[in-house]
Amino acid sequence: MRRRIIAGNWKMHNNISESQNLVSKLVSGLTNQNLIREVIICPPFTSLCEISNLLKDTKVELGAQNMHFEEKGAFTGEISSDMLKSVGCKYVILGHSERRTIFGETDELISKKIKKALTSDLTPIFCIGESLEQRENGTTNDVIKRQVLEGIKDLTEEEVNKIIIAYEPIWAIGTGKTATPEQAQEVHKFIRSILTETFSETVSEKIPILYGGSVKPNNAEDLLAKEDIDGALVGGACLEAESFISIIKA
Ligand code: PEP
Repeated sequence: MRRRIIAGNWKMHNNISESQNLVSKLVSGLTNQNLIREVIICPPFTSLCEISNLLKDTKVELGAQNMHFEEKGAFTGEISSDMLKSVGCKYVILGHSERRTIFGETDELISKKIKKALTSDLTPIFCIGESLEQRENGTTNDVIKRQVLEGIKDLTEEEVNKIIIAYEPIWAIGTGKTATPEQAQEVHKFIRSILTETFSETVSEKIPILYGGSVKPNNAEDLLAKEDIDGALVGGACLEAESFISIIKA
């Protein structure tokens, strides 16, 4: 059976005290719960160290929202995989549409980051997704295929087995517009077919594919019930412990 995962992307929210507050509520709300899903939170860099301490002895895992592909050097403002590992991160979100559209990250750059994360023993949560325009002009599958193939192009089968993919249609992120469970399932199934073609069915059946884009307590259950949707990457709704917990339990 595939891993089932709920990951929270805090984006640029929460200073240290706000982070501590949210994490304590989250941890106490999850204590003694029999969870069927793994839980990952991805706070901003400045809170990682503090939160890492708060998550010791809990089942919640830590991830970052970005990293550079080089080991170290003159890259002002950047963060390396080694730095993330040293504060206790096991995961890193890569290729988020906000990184692609606002900060100009290309498929090529994202593929280097994915390779670096894997060789550093960090699990990439590799995000892909089409824009509204691309969906409307019928090129969703072309865009998804290009993003998947470019992102994994330098990976060995052993490496690709370790990634998590997040399908996040751009038109659904932070907009309150969610893809219907059927729309999401269709793309997830398509992603699995690309993985089967490129590697094998064993690989495609193993890789968790999360859905992201306005996942809320009231729509999580229907989305997560779909065969190829193995979890969710949650933005806005992970900033409140209560709503994140109800998605985790959905
Ligand atoms: C995200 O940023 O990855 C995301 C899915 O955001 P939201 O849930 O707010 O749409």
